[in-house]
Amino acid sequence: MALNILVVDDSMVMRTVIIKTLKMCGIPLGEIYQASNGLEGIQVLEKEWIDLALVDINMPVMSGDEMIDKIRNDPTFADLPVIVISTESSETRIEMLIKKGAEFVHKPFSPENIRRAISRKIGGLDHGSDEGTDDFGDGPDF
Ligand SMILES: [Mg+2]
Repeated sequence: MALNILVVDDSMVMRTVIIKTLKMCGIPLGEIYQASNGLEGIQVLEKEWIDLALVDINMPVMSGDEMIDKIRNDPTFADLPVIVISTESSETRIEMLIKKGAEFVHKPFSPENIRRAISRKIGGLDHGSDEGTDDFGDGPDF
């Protein structure tokens, strides 16, 4: 299954790095969409079929937190897998995001970090646990 992925980050350079990383980590990619803040991200969600959103926290106009709240409160998108990619280091804030059903990846990240997070969010359904997702030798699990 090819994944349509939405990358939301106010830094164009960071979006480019994330997209490059996605292409490196062996995930079957469909369309990749970009947005530079949460509001733009929501607008993309309303127009396109998205399987997974990778979302920054600190952005102008609408932050990642706000975007995730909107997603979770809208029955159309409530179950959308979300991975937060951020420099955020506050444990409390990270805990809050995880409670909202988001996976968290620290910047800077490696392709393995991204792939592991995606596997937990999507491919993780196949293993039933996080165990085994450290093994990158046998290709994607989804
Ligand atoms: Mg930012």
